[in-house]
Amino acid sequence: MAFLDRAARTMFLSEILAGMSLTFRYMFRKKPTLNYPFEKGPLSPRFRGEHALRRYANGEERCIACKLCEAICPAQAITIEAEPRADGSRRTTRYDIDMVKCIYCGFCQEACPVDAIVEGPNFEYATESRAELLYNKEKLLQNGDRWEREIAANLTADAPYR
Ligand code: SF4
Ligand code: SF4
Repeated sequence: MAFLDRAARTMFLSEILAGMSLTFRYMFRKKPTLNYPFEKGPLSPRFRGEHALRRYANGEERCIACKLCEAICPAQAITIEAEPRADGSRRTTRYDIDMVKCIYCGFCQEACPVDAIVEGPNFEYATESRAELLYNKEKLLQNGDRWEREIAANLTADAPYR
């Protein structure tokens, strides 16, 4: 019986036809893949991407050099040095993040009392050398200036849930 069954299937090409019908059905369905990098999927407002240091609207740095982010970082990826300015305000003279050590836990962002250090929406920052992933304050502030609009929108969207 099994032999006859197999012979009939071979003769009528039933398995090939079943496979072809499945192929045709999928040909007309909406594609689940994206043509990256020309198309990109949606990102959550909580997405933890490349770090950035933010400024206030008047251009002043938000960071008050409290070092909470440095203290809480489980990977010890953040290095801060600070000194008071002439006007008595405290600001960093050095703010480095070793992006190779970072585990993207988001603790630095959670600890910051003034929303200065954040993990922004950028995930396209692959480099050709490790040295390029040692971010300094200038690089982090540049990231903040570049992504401020998106970062502010994400923080606003997430605010009701914090
Ligand atoms: S995301 Fe986590 S590991 Fe990375 S710098 Fe912030 S606290 Fe450190
Ligand atoms: S980024 Fe925030 S937590 Fe870190 S030193 Fe500056 S103010 Fe403090």
